[in-house]
Amino acid sequence: MNAANMQTAAVIGAGTMGHGIAQVLAMSGIEVRLFDIDAERVEHGLAQVATNLEKGVARGKLDADLRDQSLARLSGTTSMDELCDGADVVVEAVPEILELKQSIFGDLGRRLDAGVLLATNTSSLPVQSVACVTDHPERVVGMHFFNPVHIMKLCEVIETESTSEQAVTAALDLARRMGKQPIRVKDSPGFASSRLGLAIGLEAMRMLEQKVASAEDIDKAMTLGYGFPMGPLKLTDLVGLDVRLSIAEFLKIEIGPSFEPPQILRDMVARGDLGKKSGRGFYDWSR
Ligand code: NAD
Repeated sequence: MNAANMQTAAVIGAGTMGHGIAQVLAMSGIEVRLFDIDAERVEHGLAQVATNLEKGVARGKLDADLRDQSLARLSGTTSMDELCDGADVVVEAVPEILELKQSIFGDLGRRLDAGVLLATNTSSLPVQSVACVTDHPERVVGMHFFNPVHIMKLCEVIETESTSEQAVTAALDLARRMGKQPIRVKDSPGFASSRLGLAIGLEAMRMLEQKVASAEDIDKAMTLGYGFPMGPLKLTDLVGLDVRLSIAEFLKIEIGPSFEPPQILRDMVARGDLGKKSGRGFYDWSR
């Protein structure tokens, strides 16, 4: 289990995250098989990778040779047998449904020997909850990539109480090989990124509720004062208020009352003001 020696990767789920993870793995010199239960999603995922790479070349950010080599290393499949054959690492990116991920990790545990690194891209589920259903849970980690994967530099590597040091090191090195900057985080609710991002977002909402400042000015406090690329309220509009509310409810139970969702968030979600996707959130997106 050594990232430098990894030659073949399996990616499960060809959606938003899976195709991006497959792309970056292929760009790092690894043969990648992209699997989905839906053959159309496989084709769509592969086409999205081709489009991303093409755009990179057109913008002068990517060498045409690297585009061609990356595409040549990438293939799609709907067969688990084909997917697992010779895989050194598996990265799972199926929907955030615990039972679904558990059934996949149970299956992977039976198919793959103990030296294969198994990673989940879950954004919120305890990694231990999938590790515990697989054979050799010591090789299971979280590798939490960010969207769009080919652009965002962060990868949270999440270690459970069972993860071996060897698996953590392999995941950190693999993330670096993929051009990411990994951070090492203990398996805990919200990991580092969601917990911190949400804490700031909820406080910004409470400040708006208390009429401390306008949404624009609260956001400017962080963009101009702290160099954030985007203010916490605008970011909430992009993520979706409903998504942030459900994460806050979860973290309130898991961590404590500091994650109690502000009334303004509950009211806006109840009204259907979900942010950019609904045309209105803390900002007006209808125009
Ligand atoms: P998505 O819905 O875009 O893609 C999921 C894919 O999994 C679909 O193509 C679906 O057909 C496929 N799938 C469903 N059941 C499957 C199965 N049994 N076997 C194989 N494939 C199956 O989802 P996504 O946004 O890519 O999210 C995937 C994971 O990544 C989730 O755990 C999510 O929480 C996490 N995540 C998402 C983001 C994001 O911004 N979208 C960011 C970080 C982490």
